[in-house]
Amino acid sequence: MMFDIIIRGDQVVTPHGTGAWDLCIKGETIAAVMHPDQFSNLQSNRVVDARGKLVIPGGIDPHIHSLWHIPAIEKGGEIKLTDGPDIVSRAAVHGGTTSLLDFATWTHGQTIEEAVNIRKQDWAQKCYTDYGYHIMLQGAIPHNLYPQIAEVIQEGYPSIKIFTTDITPSRKGRKITHGHIWEIFKVLKKEGGIAAIHAEDDEIVMHMYDVLDREGRTGFENLAEVHNSMSEDLSFRRIIRLAELTEGTPLYMMHVSAETGVAAIETSRKRGFPVYGETLHQYLMFTHEHYKLPNGQIYHTYPSLKETSDQDALWKGQLNGSISTIATDEICCNLSTKTQGKRVDDTTGGNAGCEPRVSVMYTEMIVKRGYSPSKFVDLISTNAAKLMGLYPKKGALAVGSDADIAVLDPAEKRVVTASRLHETDYTPWEGYEAAAWPVLTVLRGKIMMENGEFFGDVKDGKLLKRKVAEDIRSRPII
Ligand SMILES: [Zn+2]
Repeated sequence: MMFDIIIRGDQVVTPHGTGAWDLCIKGETIAAVMHPDQFSNLQSNRVVDARGKLVIPGGIDPHIHSLWHIPAIEKGGEIKLTDGPDIVSRAAVHGGTTSLLDFATWTHGQTIEEAVNIRKQDWAQKCYTDYGYHIMLQGAIPHNLYPQIAEVIQEGYPSIKIFTTDITPSRKGRKITHGHIWEIFKVLKKEGGIAAIHAEDDEIVMHMYDVLDREGRTGFENLAEVHNSMSEDLSFRRIIRLAELTEGTPLYMMHVSAETGVAAIETSRKRGFPVYGETLHQYLMFTHEHYKLPNGQIYHTYPSLKETSDQDALWKGQLNGSISTIATDEICCNLSTKTQGKRVDDTTGGNAGCEPRVSVMYTEMIVKRGYSPSKFVDLISTNAAKLMGLYPKKGALAVGSDADIAVLDPAEKRVVTASRLHETDYTPWEGYEAAAWPVLTVLRGKIMMENGEFFGDVKDGKLLKRKVAEDIRSRPII
């Protein structure tokens, strides 16, 4: 037997536990997972000694936005686009992430197929990682769209993004009414889909914009009053109840930010419904107090940063299953764009963060909180693969899985600084002391990054077609 690469590790995180294994790669997949030294160095073109390091499946970021519109601040001002998949995925590879899920946005006047085809042009041969799209719907849904939702699920795009709010007064047209959401849920339930929800109570949010405007308190440091915990409570419970009543439509609650959101998910899961939570690593690390720091907008993502008690709930939620994934909501733009909005209604959301995500979470989860390596891997890779229909091709170090691998080196401690990252000119984690950093990233058997040196080709990334397993869709199994 001859392999292309053997990675010999003593802390290799597999679905069957963490231990000393040799990962034997042939072509694009893992051909064998063996006890140490069963194959000699002569049986592989390349042997990597990863002992003393943590060997994990490549990270999966289930929520990013590239080439995304950033609304102009001034009326008639320039509408900017965020950085493209080439920049974002290059940073991802440096940070040990090998798959990204972005969005294809359907707008009125086009078919969903057209929306997907337009999005493909943004990505094809412009990405260093594998990638897929959630289908983002918005506004009033015309009746002829429902059969198209069924079709696009069959095509390999099972996750449908839905907003229950316009987010800010200037973004009218995103919100979908609960009547239309009900119709979408029926299709998702029947056809193998999962709803990816941005839930906020639109009436509460818009009311709070009015209140702060009247009181002359429109600075962005007040964002937590607008996009508040009560809004998360009301909106989560309403949308979850709608899903429960629609034969238990599976839900993926995006960027959970509050204790109330975690509690709503937990309640439904206890009743046996397939409801899953995503949070963002900035919600785990920062509170609304960070808005008061210089350039405080850099910590912001919609809905908003909240209180320490909300943070605590987001951490606890990982232990009882209410929070399954840690994403970034990546919006890669420079500091001047990120800080151009200074009001509650015009501050740019999203963060540059897909490069440090895995290392920051390693530090927070394994080093500071004593999570097992497999729990950490679940949260930054495996659960996203399962919920988004990529498992076990992605998110597992197992025979037959894609050879997507990251090796984290605890000897490579690093103070995070924007100049050493590959995203943009700022990072919210400036000065953060990471306890390990990736020294090797492999995408489908190809070494993309080793010891900081980059070997990727922008044509390496492939579009992922996805199918969510029925057990994931029928009850809260992870
Ligand atoms: Zn987002």
